[in-house]
Amino acid sequence: MTADLTNPILTNEIAAIAHLETSRWAAGVTCPLCGSDKAKKMGGQTQAGMFLCGDCRGKFTVRTGTVFERSHIPLHKWLLATHLMASSKKGISAHQLHRMLGITYKSAWFMAHRIREAMIPAADAGPLGGEGKIVEADETEISPSRTTRAKGGRKRANNKRFVALVERDGQVRSAVIDGRGLSEVRKAVRKNVAKGSILHTDGATVYRGLMPVGTHEAIDHDKAFARDGETGRVHSNSAEGYFSLFKRGLVGTYQHISPAHLPRYLAEFDFRMNTRTKLGFNDLTRAAAIVKAAEGKRLTYRQVG
Ligand SMILES: [Zn+2]
Repeated sequence: MTADLTNPILTNEIAAIAHLETSRWAAGVTCPLCGSDKAKKMGGQTQAGMFLCGDCRGKFTVRTGTVFERSHIPLHKWLLATHLMASSKKGISAHQLHRMLGITYKSAWFMAHRIREAMIPAADAGPLGGEGKIVEADETEISPSRTTRAKGGRKRANNKRFVALVERDGQVRSAVIDGRGLSEVRKAVRKNVAKGSILHTDGATVYRGLMPVGTHEAIDHDKAFARDGETGRVHSNSAEGYFSLFKRGLVGTYQHISPAHLPRYLAEFDFRMNTRTKLGFNDLTRAAAIVKAAEGKRLTYRQVG
């Protein structure tokens, strides 16, 4: 199967449904309502794609319990949106999706957010790093939307900070830092970096004492080059490269994002980094990873299109 846009799963609804059924239920259909394996496909045109559970008697489709649920948008368009988002390095705007998919802007916006939701790492995703592995930690500030109007009509900058944790030649995890930056950064490191890792930072005091079990090596900017040449490894270049890609996406693709949605945009950029070609992924397996993660991430707050 190829990953190009002529693939039938991206243009034909029957092919798309069949594709999703095989990838979701490779080991046999499981009822998403009760977990039973006694489900049968229903016959007839009106029940196309519908299964009936032999245990709970519930009806379901391949969309049930996924981010594709409760949407009138055909699944092949969902798959196309997923492929486009998975393969666009700097992201793809809702305007672009709206034009390419032939759906309303509003639908495109909600689809993109549901797909981002699927890109958020599972709750049981393990920490980064590990014994002797290098994880860089660095923070940056961005302006998701240029200004917001504060009470009294005065405009103020609406900057947000986030921290990126980057395994050397591995995975990335970013987190928004709200409120008191110091404790938030420490919390993100404690939660996402395995004990025994070597934490590389720019020397900010916030990171001191964070790796009681592992090692903390800070960059001394005055001696940065000497230190680099000496050990050949203390730097936060990977984190800086990641920030630069995110900022190019923010400026070039998204322009304005609601600060409230920043965690989802970070999840999107993290996801593409974590499924990059260097780590053995291609456009097809990247999109497949999203579809796999789409299960159990159902958003119930809003119907799409
Ligand atoms: Zn059931």
